[in-house]
Amino acid sequence: TLTGQNLHLSFGTNHVLRGIDLHVEQGTTASVIGPSGSGKSTLLRVLNRLIEPDEGDILLDGRSVLKDNPDELRRRIGMVFQQFNLFPHKTVLENVSLALRKLRRMSAGEAREKALAQLDLVGLRHKADVRPGNLSGGQQQRVAIARALAMDPEVMFFDEATSALDPELVKGVLALMADLATAGMTMVVVTHEMGFSRNVSDTVTFMDGGVVVESGPPAAIFDDAQTPRLRSFLSDVL
Ligand code: ATP
Ligand code: MG
Repeated sequence: TLTGQNLHLSFGTNHVLRGIDLHVEQGTTASVIGPSGSGKSTLLRVLNRLIEPDEGDILLDGRSVLKDNPDELRRRIGMVFQQFNLFPHKTVLENVSLALRKLRRMSAGEAREKALAQLDLVGLRHKADVRPGNLSGGQQQRVAIARALAMDPEVMFFDEATSALDPELVKGVLALMADLATAGMTMVVVTHEMGFSRNVSDTVTFMDGGVVVESGPPAAIFDDAQTPRLRSFLSDVL
């Protein structure tokens, strides 16, 4: 389980997170929705300590992680961004195996085997030796997912993982994410894909203006919104 408690963060005078609580049970998928600028990406960055919160606590399996080395937490959380952030001059296989060698200190052979197995899982083993530029955006994103999964994370974060993709490529990546959810991965998914949020996630958190306005199971959020802010957001995006 991953818990954020009363998280606050300001950029200068801009108070971006204003006391966020988020609780993700082991093996469940939490989606985070909300308008642009509401603080969704910042929340993910605070939760994996790319940015330190000004206030609040982060618990993984019930234990605060704020006193640990931040690198430790980032090893336990895999992150997939809108922009795939693959190394353009390295092959697909090298992209997936690099961190296994550098951070996990695996031998070249071990890292290669693990990376190939992970590429197999996302259906791209046959692309192991090409460079990312020769892949479609959807394939590149699946490589980025394979790279994150290769590190055996306890939790996966996705930040608008499909927003940069051409429409016809979105489905394949969402299907892979849905497979991960079904396989029992613990996930936090920031998304504009309301179909994914409704059909795949176990809980939905609606953020606006740096606060959680509503959260609950998909049916409560999508069919029984309690606040004008959520109703208005849904009428804009659905
Ligand atoms: P979007 O849906 O457009 O991705 P978001 O909900 O992810 O939006 P954030 O990126 O978290 O929103 O931004 C929330 C607020 O924090 C915005 O006002 C933004 O300008 C500000 N912000 C984000 N990152 C930084 C930064 N590195 N420095 C200063 N301000 C920032
Ligand atoms: Mg964002």
